[in-house]
Amino acid sequence: MKMNQHAVVIGGSMAGLLTARVLSDHFAQVTIIERDPVQDQPESRKGQPQTRHLHALLSSGFEIVSRLFPGIEEDLVAGGAMVSDPGAEMCYFQFGGWKKPFDSGMRECLSSRPYLEWQVRRRVVALPNVRLLAPREVKTLLTNEDDSRVVGAEIVYRADGRHEESLVADLVVDCAGRGSATPKWLDEWGYGRAPESRVKINFAYSTRIYRRKATDLPNAKTIMIAPTPPAKSGTFIFPIEGDRWIVTSGGMHGVEPPTDEAGFLEYIRNLPVPDIYNIISRAEPLSDIVPHKFPFSLRRHYEKMKRFPAGLLVLGDAAASFNPIYGQGMSAAAMQAAALQKLLQEQGNAPTLYRRYFKQAAKIVDMPWQIAVGEDFRWAETEGPKPPGTDLLNRYTAYLNRVMEDDAVVGEQFLRVVHLVAAPSSLMSPRMLWRAWRWQRQQGKDTAVTSQPVTKPVRQN
Ligand SMILES: Cc1cc2nc3c(=O)[nH]c(=O)nc-3n(C[C@H](O)[C@H](O)[C@H](O)COP(=O)(O)OP(=O)(O)OC[C@H]3O[C@@H](n4cnc5c(N)ncnc54)[C@H](O)[C@@H]3O)c2cc1C
Repeated sequence: MKMNQHAVVIGGSMAGLLTARVLSDHFAQVTIIERDPVQDQPESRKGQPQTRHLHALLSSGFEIVSRLFPGIEEDLVAGGAMVSDPGAEMCYFQFGGWKKPFDSGMRECLSSRPYLEWQVRRRVVALPNVRLLAPREVKTLLTNEDDSRVVGAEIVYRADGRHEESLVADLVVDCAGRGSATPKWLDEWGYGRAPESRVKINFAYSTRIYRRKATDLPNAKTIMIAPTPPAKSGTFIFPIEGDRWIVTSGGMHGVEPPTDEAGFLEYIRNLPVPDIYNIISRAEPLSDIVPHKFPFSLRRHYEKMKRFPAGLLVLGDAAASFNPIYGQGMSAAAMQAAALQKLLQEQGNAPTLYRRYFKQAAKIVDMPWQIAVGEDFRWAETEGPKPPGTDLLNRYTAYLNRVMEDDAVVGEQFLRVVHLVAAPSSLMSPRMLWRAWRWQRQQGKDTAVTSQPVTKPVRQN
């Protein structure tokens, strides 16, 4: 007998699916409400247009997804996804140099986002106590008489907009993404709005899919040419199922990668190293060039609210979404879902765990937020609340980037931070500081931080 009867999850994208999986162990029935029509196939839907762009599932997220869905890795790989060691198989260029490769023991999942999500979704909807209602939209939430508790959701059928039903629930989890209506609902019920942090970056993506040949990049799996200030452009190439490459170019603060063929190629040709250009200038394009804009990172601090209704939680992009270049959104959502799972195992009574949940979720979000927002403040145009110590940390990590050209131990710790496995503060340990100091002694004068290549310009091909 499960302690709680019914949970409603708003949104059937990655955060909603992972949350539903976790709730299914603790609720007799879980209902996911998704606004878009959903087919049993890999697809990018209107409500999550970002899924047409490159999506890495970092080591931290992949570990949780694999634990929640035993056997998923085998199915992902059977369908053409790759599992890769990012230390050994990613060619990473920034601050003027390629980083030294090393075996990290970490594993990330390389596939298209629609394919990954479909593999997760089919497992979630196969659970006997989970149902996905789509296309349905949560219009509003139902509360008790004094609005102290959320008791369900009112949903409409999207196809005709007619009122459909009121669902009674012990718990509603808002996984509706950045457009979440929880701030508005809380305001209407008299709680005020959660304090928000916004950091303006004006990020623009352009993405194209190409046919991939095994000979394109024989000694590695991915290439990442990340922007180094003051330059604002970068590009990633990443293998996805179906022997394809996904190539995503990004630009910040008004630099927009073009969406026409000649402009897109030229943008990539102008990067400090030619490795991605060399591959795609010879490869067959399989898609249009698709744009996406991401104006600002956004964090809603529910942990700081003095009052909050029982029976409601917020998870995933609905709570915090950060510059996507660091590839952390799905992993941060998975970590939040894992924290919820642990709390449910400890506390059981779902409606009242919101305070503990938001406290833990805030700690989880601190990590990707600090990394993404901290990095974004390398550019003078970035606007918003700057975490204390950011400039100093950025100077130090830019320097560590140079050290990583030669020192795999520093490279590994850096990667652990980027993959949300270790805290950013671990880069300041005496061991790291000593290695950085030693590197400078060994190098003599050539330790400048620069955006142009200062080491061997082509690493892999
Ligand atoms: C360009 C780009 C690239 C990215 N790359 C990466 C990456 O490499 N790695 C990574 O981990 N993350 C990446 N992310 C972030 C990642 O896409 C999100 O963190 C992830 O999708 C989790 O989001 P979510 O499920 O919280 O919200 P979303 O994916 O935004 O989904 C919200 C869902 O809720 C539904 N919905 C909204 N309102 C309602 C309603 N009222 N009723 C019913 N349904 C509703 C929507 O239709 C949608 O399906 C990237 C993001 C962007 C913008």
